[in-house]
Amino acid sequence: MTETIETDVVIIGAGPVGLFAVFELGLLDIKAHLIDILPKVGGQCAELYPEKPIYDIPGFPIVTGMGLVDNLMKQIEPFGATFHLSQMVTEVTPLGTPVAPRFRVVTDAGTTFECKSVVVAAGGGSFQPKKPPIAGIEEFEEKSVFYAVRKMEALRDRSILIVGGGDSALDWTLNLQPIARRVTLMHRRDEFRAAPHSVERMRKLVEKGEMDLRIGQVSGLRGADGRMEAALCKGNDGSVFEIACDAMLPFFGLTMKLGPVAEWGLNLHENLIPVDTEKFETSTPGIFAIGDINTYPGKLKLILSGFHEAALAAQKVHRYVYPEKKLLFQYTTSSTNLQKKLGVA
Ligand code: FAD
Repeated sequence: MTETIETDVVIIGAGPVGLFAVFELGLLDIKAHLIDILPKVGGQCAELYPEKPIYDIPGFPIVTGMGLVDNLMKQIEPFGATFHLSQMVTEVTPLGTPVAPRFRVVTDAGTTFECKSVVVAAGGGSFQPKKPPIAGIEEFEEKSVFYAVRKMEALRDRSILIVGGGDSALDWTLNLQPIARRVTLMHRRDEFRAAPHSVERMRKLVEKGEMDLRIGQVSGLRGADGRMEAALCKGNDGSVFEIACDAMLPFFGLTMKLGPVAEWGLNLHENLIPVDTEKFETSTPGIFAIGDINTYPGKLKLILSGFHEAALAAQKVHRYVYPEKKLLFQYTTSSTNLQKKLGVA
């Protein structure tokens, strides 16, 4: 049995709003663990528009999606939050009472937490891989077909077919080529959307005979009991061929789905979590919802709204974490106490 991690708060979602929640909770001495299904922090900003400029973050006339995430990471550094990436929260189970809430939070990687409050900052839901339309692919998933690489070592000495033409496909081709028995990259045309230097490196490896590049599409899988032996492929010229492989990694992009949030017993309205506007608490005392995932009259799905919600939710979380302590309102500009926590005094 895996060890249970004890913490004050679990934040579900490491998008901009989940990240800023670490700051607001940290100022109140509340420790947090963050969980995100993506292998990186930053939510939509990092995944959907890292290089696009944002013009409506207060105090930043212009900042890119990634620039904002980098700044948030710097801002929350003093609070030493722990990140659990590439993991999806599947279960949130209440253990305590409405007055003294307590929760068990479990991820699909088997990590288990017990905490006093849960902050759901799950945005538009979990980013999940788009699956290729191949009949019977489910039988091979997690044994031979993987949509993400959790541990590279699990792919050592395997014959790997990587399918796709974007950055993920090219990055994993280059990362796995040195440890795989053989890597084949397949894309439906001989043009790639990935960073030019990655494409150049891949072409050099093909020229040297150290990996293969095939143009076409996978139409079927051959194997038994989840163990793949070959991918059945179609070339653009109508040819049919097989690629022998025992692992396939399709990288067809990500789509946002509500995912397991719907199974945690919270009231939902059109796939969003209704909250009050005083504390941003859900229908379950001790569970808060902030950022794009929540709804209330007048809600605007803006990053700045999520930041405000994080600040107010933290005040109520404090009451659950420190029921005996009175909370004093303080400014970071003038409170030595807050400045000590930030490491600047
Ligand atoms: P998200 O950024 O969606 O992050 C939520 C995270 O939760 C995700 O990483 C997801 O993987 C994770 N998650 C969900 N469910 C689970 C689970 N069960 N387990 C683990 N992890 C989970 N806003 C502005 O204010 N200004 C702009 O100019 C602006 N421009 C935009 C441009 C584009 C193209 C897009 C798409 C959005 C834009 N937005 C803008 C909106 C802004 O990005 C969102 O409001 C913001 O990202 C919401 O932040 P969040 O932290 O609530 O959610």
